[in-house]
Amino acid sequence: MPARLLNGLTIRDQIYGELKQEIAELSAAGIRPGLAAVLVGENPASQIYVRSKIAACEMLGLGSWLNTPPATVTTEELLALVADLNARDEVDGILVQLPLPPQVDTKRVLEAVDPAKDVDGFHPVNLGRLVSGRPGLVACTPAGCMEILRRSGIPAEGANAAVVGRSDIVGKPMALLLMHANATVTICHSKTRDLPGVVRRADIVIAAIGRTAMIEPDWVRPSATVIDVGINRVTDAAEAQRLFANLPPRLKQFQEKGSALVGDVHPDVAEVAGAITPVPGGVGPLTIAMLMSNTVKAARLRRGPGGQAAASHLTGAGAAKP
Ligand code: NAP
Repeated sequence: MPARLLNGLTIRDQIYGELKQEIAELSAAGIRPGLAAVLVGENPASQIYVRSKIAACEMLGLGSWLNTPPATVTTEELLALVADLNARDEVDGILVQLPLPPQVDTKRVLEAVDPAKDVDGFHPVNLGRLVSGRPGLVACTPAGCMEILRRSGIPAEGANAAVVGRSDIVGKPMALLLMHANATVTICHSKTRDLPGVVRRADIVIAAIGRTAMIEPDWVRPSATVIDVGINRVTDAAEAQRLFANLPPRLKQFQEKGSALVGDVHPDVAEVAGAITPVPGGVGPLTIAMLMSNTVKAARLRRGPGGQAAASHLTGAGAAKP
């Protein structure tokens, strides 16, 4: 029986509905949450990502500021820009779009962001809070994966979870969030022995590898939940033929467009798993939704009624309004 599709667009819209309510409450208290984006140079992919983040701010009525230093910017110049954004009270969230050019010390720039405005959750202070299960701002993509599980009624407690990938921005925070939600977590990477065997034991599989369709149907136990974080663009016709051999409508779409987005999970896994996120339309929409959620949360904690006192209610486990 085909898997239940976990529709990221529907979940995103639920979150936006809740955020609109919270934004209205903040607005009544004279607070308009705002996000400042730093987009260096002319990287087309980064331009698209930042544009969609700004568009989401505008749609929700959040303030937004776009800073576009040239590709020749120095570390010192970026540090000065971050210091200025840190000092501006109306800026609640600071987003430094990666990658930065090679001459820039990315770590220094990210660590210069005020942890209270670190809506990407990359600052070591927020990572430390996540490790110790304390309130903080959590990286958007793993926080979005937790929202998908929670809002789809898929319990993490007691489940065996396999997280494939151990990057700082996805795999590691994902594993910590699942552990805090009382899953038994196995973190897999390029040196893991018998990866298919490890994945086969999991009730929840998180694929964050960056390898097209790597997780095969026979790696997945029937009824497992599969969250596919990967986003890979396929342009090779022979590869598309192989990937979509059992999915004629998707093959037809590929032939019309000349490309298709495929996750790190083979599309045929949908015939085996109990529930699965599609690509596109699964995890992707949640990443921006959680950025918006973190911006509103940062505004509430820093400037909202109760201010820092509100932090004591937070779990830091990635809920839209913990
Ligand atoms: P990354 O930094 O390249 O990390 C990839 C991880 O996968 C590494 O830990 C690596 O292991 C592991 N890996 C690579 N090849 C492997 C193999 N053959 N077997 C087992 N593990 C292997 O990637 P990332 O930034 O975490 O992103 C992962 C994917 O998610 C990408 O497709 C990216 O485009 C996508 N993504 C999507 C969103 C979204 O909004 N949906 C957001 C962020 C990322 P080692 O540590 O041993 O090298």
